[in-house]
Amino acid sequence: MMNYKKIVIAGSGVLGSQIAFQTAFHDFDVNVYDVNEEAITVAKKRMENLKNVYGTFFKDEKRAEKAFESLHYFTDLAEAVKDADLIIEAVPERIEIKENFYSELAKVASKKTVFASNSSTLLPSQFAEYTGRPEKFLALHFANEIWEKNTAEVMGHPETDIKYVEEVTEFAREIGMIPFVLKKEQSGYILNSLLVPLLTAAMDLWVRDIADPQTIDKNWMISTGAPVGPFGFYDIIGMETPYNLNLMHAETVPESKLAAEKIKKEMIDKGKMGVNSGEGFYTYPNPAYQDPNFLKQN
Ligand code: NAD
Repeated sequence: MMNYKKIVIAGSGVLGSQIAFQTAFHDFDVNVYDVNEEAITVAKKRMENLKNVYGTFFKDEKRAEKAFESLHYFTDLAEAVKDADLIIEAVPERIEIKENFYSELAKVASKKTVFASNSSTLLPSQFAEYTGRPEKFLALHFANEIWEKNTAEVMGHPETDIKYVEEVTEFAREIGMIPFVLKKEQSGYILNSLLVPLLTAAMDLWVRDIADPQTIDKNWMISTGAPVGPFGFYDIIGMETPYNLNLMHAETVPESKLAAEKIKKEMIDKGKMGVNSGEGFYTYPNPAYQDPNFLKQN
């Protein structure tokens, strides 16, 4: 049974646009909200691109066209959220932006509306007090390239009512996601709690020159059966995120300072930004780690 009909996506950037398209593609009534007309113009371009991606991926151009045409765009928050059953927040990962957003939203949203945050690193309990409805507030976290990597991590904070955890989990299923409900709040949810330590350890092995990236990946892939190693992942993520994260901690963590310097010198300065630039730790479109012979020798 569909609990929710009218869905609002706030913030139409990389993830917000994907969440909006995925939701419209599953026949929900979707409003897209962003701060100004320039942001909406960019959002419409993203949607145009997503229309092609969905048409090709699901081999159904008509359905993708219908989803594209069905989206409504707003720059007025009160208008956008009128009658909404669920608002999914995908505004930038900055505490003060999210605090302000929830404070403004609380003033104009209907009492019935459930709020969900797509934040990757911040916890619902950090913002619950600004929402005016802590019991109807939780995290619903999607992965980049949502149409293919269709996990949805559902995570309440101590005051979230289980009823809304269940409703949002059901909604996630209805838009084609495989939901994972966390029993407690956890920074990084399940995926990043596992992936980030692995990636950090791999980077450290490279930075301290214990082994080169391909050797590290090969060891991990042969030993665990994983289809991609940590440096293959770095290429998928792109160099900017690990560089910025290491730079952020460079003052306090010596390993982060060395990692930021090495990523800049060996990768960014050489234009090796990852899959999107055609080269990172591997060259694309056919990276060496996908060659069947890669795992047969060292
Ligand atoms: P982004 O920078 O691509 O997009 C953010 C959008 O929010 C922009 O369109 C911007 O104009 C808009 N915005 C700024 N202030 C706003 C406000 N007050 N109200 C409404 N919109 C506002 O960011 P993103 O990568 O899409 O990330 C958004 C959220 O999704 C973050 O919390 C991030 O942690 C999370 N997330 C990102 C990824 C990813 O791979 N990019 C994956 C999972 C989750």
